[in-house]
Amino acid sequence: MERPQQINDALAQPTYVDSSFGNTPLVTLRRLFPPGIVVQAKLEYFNPSGSVKDRIVAYIIDDAENRGALRPGSTIVEHTSGNTGAAVAMIAAARGYHAILTMPDKVSPEKQAALRAYGAEVVVCPTDAPPDSPKHYVERARYIAAEREGSFLVGQYDNLKNREAHYHTTGPEIWRQTQGHIDYLVASASTGGTISGVGRYLKERNPEIKVVMPDPLGSIYEHYFRTGIVNSNCAYPYQVEGIGEDHIAGCMDFAVIDDVLTFSDEQAFLAARRLARYEGILGGGSAGANIWGCLEVARRLKSSARIVTIIPDSGLKYLTKFYDDTWMHNAVNTRTC
Ligand code: PMP
Repeated sequence: MERPQQINDALAQPTYVDSSFGNTPLVTLRRLFPPGIVVQAKLEYFNPSGSVKDRIVAYIIDDAENRGALRPGSTIVEHTSGNTGAAVAMIAAARGYHAILTMPDKVSPEKQAALRAYGAEVVVCPTDAPPDSPKHYVERARYIAAEREGSFLVGQYDNLKNREAHYHTTGPEIWRQTQGHIDYLVASASTGGTISGVGRYLKERNPEIKVVMPDPLGSIYEHYFRTGIVNSNCAYPYQVEGIGEDHIAGCMDFAVIDDVLTFSDEQAFLAARRLARYEGILGGGSAGANIWGCLEVARRLKSSARIVTIIPDSGLKYLTKFYDDTWMHNAVNTRTC
């Protein structure tokens, strides 16, 4: 039976998933910062699976499909702190792939549940496993991908398409939305895709722009940035999810980074809670780290400045963690506001 033209037209439209990446809002914060400091936040939780990671996963999967590395029925494998996993699981569901996602056990129950809801297989690994251990979530994903014939490993840490996606999408969006009026980019990092891609794009347009990276205590990046030495003794577990690292990711481009500032879990979580209460923006722990970084940059400044930062994901993914007063008291033994 021939389909009516209207139905063919409707089916020719891009899917929900394909039509809703990027072009996220950039909003000015009005209450947290002193006059003279303009902070604008890019709300990446507007992406369809709720985080900045939709951009890179769509970019990498499109590329893999075009190269023939992914075929109908293939399995997509990835190691994730939850957000890349949600993006993989969502796109796999929409395009008919199977997804297997490994993650450390500190990942919030909300994030784990979302991956299962999209139909992905979730493998939870110990957070404190050393990076070279077969139990570490990155190693586990590599092992699964090697074992399973016809599978495709996204490999967000070392796949340079990750930072390329930000160079081609997030960077130009920020430049357009600010009309080039930026003095600082503040962004914490894990794979480094966001800060490296956006940082390079912005610096190519204006080399005066400074790029500042907040890094959690317990991550090795700050020490590496200062000394060029990877010191595994600096690595220990911390609570904030999705940022900092116990190894140097291939996508991290330290050449675009001007300064790295270390913060505690408490500083990040309190900043996230203040962002929600004073600006009405419900972000994740890395958003808190970024806002803490903006406050720190603002505190050190002698003159007015325009700062752009990233809100990588939504606080809805952490309601049972640092937005819960009891969890906050037990986890970081701290005040709650
Ligand atoms: N925030 C959150 C919540 C994340 O999940 C991630 C990625 N793991 C980042 C920030 C850092 O992004 P990138 O990997 O691009 O450095």
